[in-house]
Amino acid sequence: MQKKIRTRFAPSPTGFMHVGNLRTALYEYLIAKSMHGDFILRIEDTDQERLVEGATDVIYRTLRETGLMHDEGPDIGGEFGPYVQSERQELYRPYAEQLVREGKAYYCFCTKERLDSLRGEEEGFGGYDRHCRDLPQEEVERLLKAGTPYVIRQKMPVEGSTTFEDAVYGSITIENSELEDQILLKSDGYPTYNFANVIDDHLMQITHVVRGCEYLTSTPKYNLLYEAFGWEIPVYVHLPLIMGRGDDGEVSKLSKRHGSTGFDDLVNEGYLPQAIMNYIALLGWCPKDNEEVFSLEGLVQNFSVDGISKSPSVFDYDKLAWFNGEYLRAMPPEEFTALAMPYYRQSLGEKTCNWTVLSTILQPRVTQLTQIPEKIRFFAELPEYETDLFVNKKSKTNLENSVTMLEHAIAALEAISTWDVETIHTVLLELAPKLEVKNGTLLWPVRIAAAGMSVTPGGAIEILAILGKEESLRRLRIGLAKLGA
Ligand code: GLU
Repeated sequence: MQKKIRTRFAPSPTGFMHVGNLRTALYEYLIAKSMHGDFILRIEDTDQERLVEGATDVIYRTLRETGLMHDEGPDIGGEFGPYVQSERQELYRPYAEQLVREGKAYYCFCTKERLDSLRGEEEGFGGYDRHCRDLPQEEVERLLKAGTPYVIRQKMPVEGSTTFEDAVYGSITIENSELEDQILLKSDGYPTYNFANVIDDHLMQITHVVRGCEYLTSTPKYNLLYEAFGWEIPVYVHLPLIMGRGDDGEVSKLSKRHGSTGFDDLVNEGYLPQAIMNYIALLGWCPKDNEEVFSLEGLVQNFSVDGISKSPSVFDYDKLAWFNGEYLRAMPPEEFTALAMPYYRQSLGEKTCNWTVLSTILQPRVTQLTQIPEKIRFFAELPEYETDLFVNKKSKTNLENSVTMLEHAIAALEAISTWDVETIHTVLLELAPKLEVKNGTLLWPVRIAAAGMSVTPGGAIEILAILGKEESLRRLRIGLAKLGA
């Protein structure tokens, strides 16, 4: 029987979910789910200096909001817990000691001063001169008994090279002479990241290790540990860098100067979690056909490791906005209204208006929800405007006929008892032929007076419907007054 596929997302709780981390989580999820496997959450919080209050909540919340539901993790448990590294502290030491017993690791008593003094000297063996590697056994015992602080280091092979296969980058070889005798257990008794990571991945039976390509050069070290223990090496899937393009066109590693890089920040800028996930799925993975819009379920169905590219991809905010627009347009109008409501409120305060009509005009026109407040500000307050807005060649309007149009429109609209799009539409479209003008000639001045600006989302009829009868008539009369009538 084939082994169950298990991937893990192992974020450090920094309080911030970078899109690069989120992409790693997504690919781990997709690899597991596309092969009916399990997706595990492990919190790597042993770097105490970097701990940020509430940071694990950011991780849980992001996974929830993006739909990346884990099968095991600190909050839901599982057979392979604990899933928080700081709660696993006790279990690493025996593994380090096992390697010492087997002659594959050793106690190192070098002081900080000694190690510092090595710097600057010609660096051999990757940095550490292996001073304690062959200390006589009695000496080791004497120092241990005396309570001398120590670390445990792994004996790296002195010659040859280590090669590993990466599912994305292919075969990678590193000369063993470049490898430092890596520290497994620090002098405070805690494991190093490299050591804990390998032990955890092994004990949690992780089959695919997915991480950013900045870990490529550390991978031989991980493998030498797997080999020292005689454990099966997982499949490595290293992901390409995510770049950003600066204003000058220069491409460099994605950072704040390119734009928002955190999930929460992007959401606050009005991007939908589904759109963000869809977009970042394509940052480094190329679907077989040219389809681009995928739900999470669709991604699970289509994803495969061989579609992952090793060339860096550039985070394109315009493309993300395009995806966002697609998702906004595709959603049921009620859902759009619910999502847009906080943005409606930003401009309109406590005012109520015909939300349904407002959403009808905005849903096809925004790519980010944050564009809404600016677009609808004129509903809250009639902007100051100049009368030359009434003059429009295409609609054949001028300062004189605009007066006539507004006077008749006001009279016709006053008579309406059911103020809705349909009725307003019927009334105005019956009025135009009566006045022997084209619809545009009537609707242009009405829209200018109602909105106080020439570029608006939606046309005159929708705008009137949204404003309500009283406010519409008030504005049309202001327009008339401006025209000196
Ligand atoms: N805790 C590491 C990080 O947040 C995870 C690296 C890994 O996937 O092994 O970068």
